[in-house]
Amino acid sequence: MIIYKTPAEIEIMRQAAQVVSRTLGLVAEHMRPGVTPLELDKMAEEYIRSQDAIPGFLGLYGCPSTLLISINEQVVHGLPTTRPIQEGDIVSVDCGAVYKGYYGDHAYTFAVGNVAPEVQKLLDVTRECLYLGIEQTVAGNRIEDIGYHIQQHAEKHGYGVVRDLVGHGLGKSLHEDPQVPNYGRRGKGKKIQEGLTIAIEPMINMGTDKVMQLEDNWTIVTADGQPSAHFEHNVAVVNGKPVILSTFDYIEEALAKQK
Ligand code: MG
Ligand code: MG
Repeated sequence: MIIYKTPAEIEIMRQAAQVVSRTLGLVAEHMRPGVTPLELDKMAEEYIRSQDAIPGFLGLYGCPSTLLISINEQVVHGLPTTRPIQEGDIVSVDCGAVYKGYYGDHAYTFAVGNVAPEVQKLLDVTRECLYLGIEQTVAGNRIEDIGYHIQQHAEKHGYGVVRDLVGHGLGKSLHEDPQVPNYGRRGKGKKIQEGLTIAIEPMINMGTDKVMQLEDNWTIVTADGQPSAHFEHNVAVVNGKPVILSTFDYIEEALAKQK
């Protein structure tokens, strides 16, 4: 059952999403060769708690961390380790926070130092996929219109669209109805209505769309070992149009300062 939100709830969800946005901005400030995922995780947890929020993933489904950090061929759900990040890595950082009872949940894939041009292209296209999906999140469209446009754009570049993991409704729970696949048929699925709040999160692989889970029972990796990218925003339907509740602005400000 889809739980449509009131304008007042959407305003709280914006604040929850913005806690995550600022946390990812802090992560961006420290994202460089030598930093360890576990250091980033501790920083993120402290920051979220300082904002009268609580980490959204920690403890949920037994998750041991505040951030999920997925490097190179890792797609999503990577657990933070002490293995330092290296020049040329791509690093997906997914973060959740609960503020006044509502979840924010979004993600960004960082290029650390100089990455190969074909890998940078994967990042650029995945991010474009995210915004193409958001554009479709208008009242009267159908849920699969989102995935259809994401899939078309990714496959045009020869990339694999992950099928086993999908976007989702968001609210007082991290995962609400509806599921929001990154693939689909035009005009299919539930009709998009006022007050819908969803996390759109294309997971796009350079090669095969097939994925596997590591023995830690968390980390999802590409079946062929090629890199994968992941970008996520939280979106509400307000006055029939998509409103992005999260922002990459804090990340981009931090990255611009490093240049
Ligand atoms: Mg997420
Ligand atoms: Mg999500």
